[in-house]
Amino acid sequence: TLDLNAINKSFGAAKVLHDISLAIKDKEFVVFVGPSGCGKSTLLRIIAGLEEATSGQIVIGGTDVSTANPVDRGISMVFQSYALYPHLSVYENIAFPLRVQKMDSAELDSRVQKAAGILQLTDKLHLKPGQLSGGQRQRVAIGRSIVRNPKVFLFDEPLSNLDAALRGDMRVELSQLHRNLDATMVYVTHDQVEAMTMADRIVVLNAGRVEQFGSPMELYHHPATKFVASFIGQPN
Ligand code: ATP
Ligand code: MG
Repeated sequence: TLDLNAINKSFGAAKVLHDISLAIKDKEFVVFVGPSGCGKSTLLRIIAGLEEATSGQIVIGGTDVSTANPVDRGISMVFQSYALYPHLSVYENIAFPLRVQKMDSAELDSRVQKAAGILQLTDKLHLKPGQLSGGQRQRVAIGRSIVRNPKVFLFDEPLSNLDAALRGDMRVELSQLHRNLDATMVYVTHDQVEAMTMADRIVVLNAGRVEQFGSPMELYHHPATKFVASFIGQPN
């Protein structure tokens, strides 16, 4: 489980997260959705350890990781900007976190090949990022997360740079990935369609507060607030 206990966050005088408490189950696909500026990325960065909460705890599998280093949390984050190294091959981009760990080359190679297989990048491993399509580049970024065998994947709007058709394909691929990896996934988007089609459960955030946490059907049929009703009801 991934438990968020009463997370508060202020930047100076501005309070951007108010008492966020959520219990996310193992292997769940949870989507954080809400308007621009509501605090989605900030909450994700706090879970990843890239930002410190003003108060509250992050607990993973019963262990309080609130003060743990990002690399020690068993979490991997995939960003909207893929941040690939242009001068390195796809193989070396995927292998990068393992090189940093100084993993031995046989184990490293088996992890990279496995990730490439899952992401259908096996025949692209020798290319440079500049020779790939946008969707392929996004998959390389995801590959770089997979090789670390994280228990929890965090995605911050990973598809927002892609065109509509590719976004649709990648939604399906990410759902398949979730089934194949049996990992917990927390996925941020402001796209209601993405939330409704991909999530086991959705967290609707508004101005730093949780409006509702429930399955897509619960939110659709029993919205807890007017905000949820209008947000889920409106086509993107
Ligand atoms: P978007 O959908 O546009 O990505 P978001 O929901 O991810 O929005 P956040 O990036 O979490 O929103 O920002 C939430 C609020 O916190 C915003 O008002 C933002 O200006 C503020 N904020 C974020 N990071 C900082 C920072 N480092 N310093 C000051 N304020 C910040
Ligand atoms: Mg954001």
